[in-house]
Amino acid sequence: MQINYPRLLADLRRLATFGQAGSGVHRLSFTPEDREARHWLLQRMTEAGLDAQIDGIGNVYGQTKGVNKAVLIGSHTDSVPKGGWLDGALGVLYGLEVARARLEAGAQTDLGIDVISFADEEGTYRALAGSLSFCGHLSEADVEAAKNQQGKSLRKALNEAGYTGRPRATWDLSRDVAYLEGHIEQGPRLESEGKKIGVVTGIVGIRRVQVTCTGQADHAGTTPMHLRKDAGSALIKYCYDLMQRFDQVRSPDSVWNFGHVAFEPGAGNVVPSTARVLVEFRDPVEATLDRLQAEIQAAVATANGQRGVGVQATELIRISPAEMDANLAALIEAAARGRGAPTLRMPSGAGHDAMVLTRHVPTAMLFIPSIGGRSHDIAEDTDEADICLGIDVLADTVRALAERR
Ligand SMILES: [Zn+2]
Repeated sequence: MQINYPRLLADLRRLATFGQAGSGVHRLSFTPEDREARHWLLQRMTEAGLDAQIDGIGNVYGQTKGVNKAVLIGSHTDSVPKGGWLDGALGVLYGLEVARARLEAGAQTDLGIDVISFADEEGTYRALAGSLSFCGHLSEADVEAAKNQQGKSLRKALNEAGYTGRPRATWDLSRDVAYLEGHIEQGPRLESEGKKIGVVTGIVGIRRVQVTCTGQADHAGTTPMHLRKDAGSALIKYCYDLMQRFDQVRSPDSVWNFGHVAFEPGAGNVVPSTARVLVEFRDPVEATLDRLQAEIQAAVATANGQRGVGVQATELIRISPAEMDANLAALIEAAARGRGAPTLRMPSGAGHDAMVLTRHVPTAMLFIPSIGGRSHDIAEDTDEADICLGIDVLADTVRALAERR
């Protein structure tokens, strides 16, 4: 099969015109621009000779005709607000180009390529909705409950898009032999270490905990310091203590973030009665997440009751780490070596549809470098040479899979 690089790059540029925002895209799920992009993709799949449809959740799914086994390649085409042009789009159009090149070459095996763009990966309504639906983890009640920030339900969005009533595509154990997702790294590691292909070992687990300090509101001028039950100061002290604790038990891959802080009543001349912080932390290993969470509790035990302030922690989100298939990862690594591309084995710090698929189908991901590590911003970009190297490695991985059968 012969990859047509100008055609791949032209498709990427064309897809970026739907919801174009400067050098990036603003293509939130089920908006007119997102739906137009889906329709365009459907046409491109059909032109390529795939049996393509948009299903009842908005997944664009193109299957190779006349085969019983297939490698599924894909990602997503929705974006975050004012996001980059390659996040998700790259993996979908990699799949389209590999499928197209393979059909043009008149593939000699019974192993076809199926291509998919999963709906709402970025979670305008429900993160990973398309891949969850594809794998049977999104009930009609979930569709009803999922809402965007304006309170509009996913159900209503699907109605408006005209997708309601269509069957939902699902994975097929007898057909799908592997899921492959190419993606930009969205971080700086490949670039800073001079590597070209990231071989993803797993996708990090995510936990989010809200820590709340409860004290008492008082006049900030007249209340002596030793009589204050200052929830704000208690929270700041807590966070500082927690950072030091996390540093003691972290792994090299651990990351954490105090993403949101709120003081109530929130005035310069009032001692805060309540203070809250969202602590989010990620790691590819569940045991490390357990260790980090234990430190949150230990820090609560230390802080609780000091200077009359109560401290408690509530878990809000718990997503387990997802391992990638080691055999497929080894094939990607070998393919990269064959192209002379320096590789880096690395976890993914961001969530991807692959984390859902890997529970059912052997799944692997490859990363290509992000310039300056920038992503989820219109500044996101990747060298064209790296985009082309990435699809070469992906296509070689598919070849190796076909030969192995
Ligand atoms: Zn993405």
